[in-house]
Amino acid sequence: MTTPRPTREGQGGGSALFPGSFDPFTRGHADIVRRGLRLFDHIFIAVGVNEQKHGWIPVEERVRALREFYKDEPRISVVSYSTLTVDFARELGAQYILRGLRTHKDYEYELQMADVNRQLAPDIETVVLFSDPELTTVSSSIVRELAHFGRDIGEWLPEGLVYLMKD
Ligand code: ADP
Repeated sequence: MTTPRPTREGQGGGSALFPGSFDPFTRGHADIVRRGLRLFDHIFIAVGVNEQKHGWIPVEERVRALREFYKDEPRISVVSYSTLTVDFARELGAQYILRGLRTHKDYEYELQMADVNRQLAPDIETVVLFSDPELTTVSSSIVRELAHFGRDIGEWLPEGLVYLMKD
């Protein structure tokens, strides 16, 4: 008997939703997207709109800057959403939810989210990638804190990503 050849499905492919606040999108996020492109045919970067939280960068600007940054990558789309993540994934036809994990502090939250999402949509698989060890300290909240105190945040963002901020 011959071993069946791996199918396209068995090798990955398909599309993934990468949901987050991305306020701002950091080098850590960009690394997850870069590595995700090895696994998936298409990645939807989905900026979640939180009605309760205004955030730092307006959602429209988060989307605009990311669209500009990834404009030459046809396998990436940037969208915003304000519904349940699994509902939005289904709407887009994404079979996977992509997330990143830095340390044990992220773990509890990511596990809880993955469990809830599995209950809501058993057909949508959460795929979690471990952070690059050099990027575990990179977080949107630290970037916001540094910006608040007038420090340069350039090295925390992927090179070429520019936010147009009003003073
Ligand atoms: P959320 O508000 O949903 O946690 P974030 O924008 O903070 O959204 O993060 C989106 C995803 O990216 C989360 O899974 C988070 O753990 C992951 N992430 C954030 N920073 C990094 C990093 N430096 N390395 C790897 N993954 C990261």
